[in-house]
Amino acid sequence: MGVFDRVVDLTLPLVPKPVVRRVASPYIAGEEMEDLLRLAAGLNQEGYRVAAAILGEFVTRKEESTEAVREYEQLLARMGERRIVGYIHIKPTHLGLKLDKAFCLENVRTLLIAARRQQLFVRMDMEDSPCIDDTLDMYYRLREEFDNVGVVIQARMRRSLADVRELAKVKANVRMCKGIYLEPHTIAYTDAELISRNYVRLTEELLGAGCTVAMATHDERLVWEGARLVDRLNVPRERYEFQMLLGVLAPLRRLILDGGHPIRVAVPYGPNWYPYSLRRLRKNPAIAGYVLKSLFK
Ligand SMILES: Cc1cc2nc3c(=O)[nH]c(=O)nc-3n(C[C@H](O)[C@H](O)[C@H](O)COP(=O)(O)OP(=O)(O)OC[C@H]3O[C@@H](n4cnc5c(N)ncnc54)[C@H](O)[C@@H]3O)c2cc1C
Repeated sequence: MGVFDRVVDLTLPLVPKPVVRRVASPYIAGEEMEDLLRLAAGLNQEGYRVAAAILGEFVTRKEESTEAVREYEQLLARMGERRIVGYIHIKPTHLGLKLDKAFCLENVRTLLIAARRQQLFVRMDMEDSPCIDDTLDMYYRLREEFDNVGVVIQARMRRSLADVRELAKVKANVRMCKGIYLEPHTIAYTDAELISRNYVRLTEELLGAGCTVAMATHDERLVWEGARLVDRLNVPRERYEFQMLLGVLAPLRRLILDGGHPIRVAVPYGPNWYPYSLRRLRKNPAIAGYVLKSLFK
């Protein structure tokens, strides 16, 4: 971590919440489900698919997970009613992974049944390294029962090539990302160039094996590499898409859409916006700098 990043890391939590809320607002649909549904419909009109998520992670009480499941069930029903072109993605630790794995598995299963009713899909996000084995294990178990479930692979993890080769055997639907959690060098690549090269290598393995791949990135070089791969491997539109986060590099998003590629925007909502916003701001030094300046005003 560079000096600036360390300063950002230490001082962002001191910034008053209303300031963080204002600056982070482009990254979140709002606090209510209706905010999400309205924004999703607008994105659909422009030609984007949507990945909806309720903000929350690493819960400490089972009731929080149960509440999240109820809210996700309602969300799936509303998305179905309004014919939103989209799916939901969930964080396993939001659904109780750290509290009780069997409980978490049942929660995801409940959502998969609700999603199947609406012909919708559920992707399990990948969180920090202690969650990877359990999340993949849940994925393989659920994959035996459901077609509408997907998982995520992080290019920064050294283990990912082996994981990808296992996932290829079940023709998994995989989101490829660099990985947002900073992990130790013993288990993760820390060199940015190497992470990008690994991203391309893993994506090629997955596409070549007939998997469906969502390339989640705002890195234009990786978008270029992804477009090159789908062209070279003659991958049909049903088997790939690009993904970006709401509020990040919208002009690049537009270029991908105008280039004729399928693209999905990940749109989070909910009252638990604060930790998510801090993570987004940490990734964006220009905005984080602006926020920090407000501390000293
Ligand atoms: C749809 C989606 C789903 C994801 N799911 C997961 C997941 O399940 N598990 C996981 O570990 N990670 C996930 N990530 C995060 C991902 O792993 C990366 O941390 C993040 O996308 C940054 O990597 P990048 O490929 O965009 O490249 P970078 O090189 O980090 O970014 C390229 C440029 O994009 C801009 N940028 C990137 N991210 C942000 C941001 N958050 N805010 C502001 N500007 C930004 C910057 O200007 C940067 O220069 C997801 C990302 C996306 C887009």
